Amino acid sequence: MTKIRTRYAPSPTGRMHVGNLRSALYEFLVAKHEGGDFMLRIEDTDQERFVEGAVEIIYRTLEKTGLIHDEGPDKDGGFGPYVQSERMKTGIYMKYAKELVDKGEAYYCFCDKERLESLRQSIDMGGATKEITVYDKHCLGLSKEEVEANLAEGKPFVIRQNNPTEGTTTFHDELYGDITVDNSELDDMILIKSDGYPTYNFANVVDDHTMGITHVVRGNEYLSSSPKYNRLYDAFGWEVPTYIHLPLITDENHKKLSKRSGHSSFEDLIEQGFLTEAVVNYIALLGWSPEDNREIFTLDELIEKFDYRRISKSPAVFDIQKLKWMNGEYLKAMDFDKFYELAEPYLKEALTKEFDFKKIAAMVKTRIEIFPDIAGLVDFFNELPEYDTVMYAHKKMKTTEESSLEVLKELLPRLEAQDEYTNDALYALLMKYVEEKGCKNGYAIWPLRTAVSGKQMTPAGATEIMEIIGKDETIARVKKGIELLEAKLA
Ligand code: GLU
Repeated sequence: MTKIRTRYAPSPTGRMHVGNLRSALYEFLVAKHEGGDFMLRIEDTDQERFVEGAVEIIYRTLEKTGLIHDEGPDKDGGFGPYVQSERMKTGIYMKYAKELVDKGEAYYCFCDKERLESLRQSIDMGGATKEITVYDKHCLGLSKEEVEANLAEGKPFVIRQNNPTEGTTTFHDELYGDITVDNSELDDMILIKSDGYPTYNFANVVDDHTMGITHVVRGNEYLSSSPKYNRLYDAFGWEVPTYIHLPLITDENHKKLSKRSGHSSFEDLIEQGFLTEAVVNYIALLGWSPEDNREIFTLDELIEKFDYRRISKSPAVFDIQKLKWMNGEYLKAMDFDKFYELAEPYLKEALTKEFDFKKIAAMVKTRIEIFPDIAGLVDFFNELPEYDTVMYAHKKMKTTEESSLEVLKELLPRLEAQDEYTNDALYALLMKYVEEKGCKNGYAIWPLRTAVSGKQMTPAGATEIMEIIGKDETIARVKKGIELLEAKLA
């Protein structure tokens, strides 16, 4: 069996979209699952869409996500160059286009803009009209002499694929099966543009073949062009690679995931505080699932489990809540030192005083889904928020505003007399009080935690919070609680 070779073939047009990253990931997994090679090819022939810096984004993202290519512009594997604009300089695309012209499978076209404009037609696409131009094969009728004269004159030209207008073309996709289209639907697409550059469609076929690609994995927006690709492979007498077209990715509203959703690119997600590993894991599940519905996978585990036959055809919904949940699972499982290193900038931004950041980090580690959640969880350490005293009444703890006032008043002198403000010492103090009073723990802890945090939910218990804020602040907050309750009950 031949070794599997896949390629990620991005066009450097900006940030790396979630759909692009999924293509890269699946191509990587298809290759690695079978011990094959994964190649990077930069498709930069569309000069109008080229964005400065986009190639660097591609390299950075692949490296960060661990999708390490075996061959590429920076790693020669003997199939180079790996950048299409450089391949073009070798004359490869023109050479193959001319071969097709000689075979009658392609032809020179000298039609100018005006003539092409006149071929434009509006078609009805189920309510919406779409403007399309179907080329009428006008230049196919030129004699060899006419073509040569035009070329000698320096007339601008393109080279078009010569597709039949009758019959059908069938191609096979691993997931969609055999797809047959009427040849009358196949436009004579341009292979070489008037600027001498190949079109994406042509370069893609020439490169996939000459670079020995065995499996092509890409978004299903390319499904409709695949019959034309097939005709090119057939015209050259080349073996067609295995096609795997991936389902559409939609947002929560089942619309195509786009920039508007705010989280459509890898960099957006990283900026929003997601972990690279969680994003990669989540993206792996956008269209694929293992037999046992397990969800958490490292990249190595994905390599082991990934079977492209289990890719689904139905659209995959990008659910940011689900990704948040997954990110939270990664944070819980993360080693503390690494967690602290990543959380520190968020803690420093959220906390305006010199607290024990490490202790606070340990409190929030299992309670956040993404780092930006930290701010809302720890803000009460800085300053007691305004709160409503009804919070003191807790059914399960059997506390009321009256009982809470009594407990806080009784605890205040003990807290004032206490010097050691550590969690353990404070807890012992509290337990002693509970024992003397003959009440349940919660009966005393609930009012105290409310008073020192002003919050219904906190990332830690009362005594841990008191250790962080210290004696003076604890006393001040307990006094404030007494004052508020007295005012309320007066
Ligand atoms: N350059 C194309 C893109 O970025 C690649 C499509 C393919 O994988 O064939 O969408």
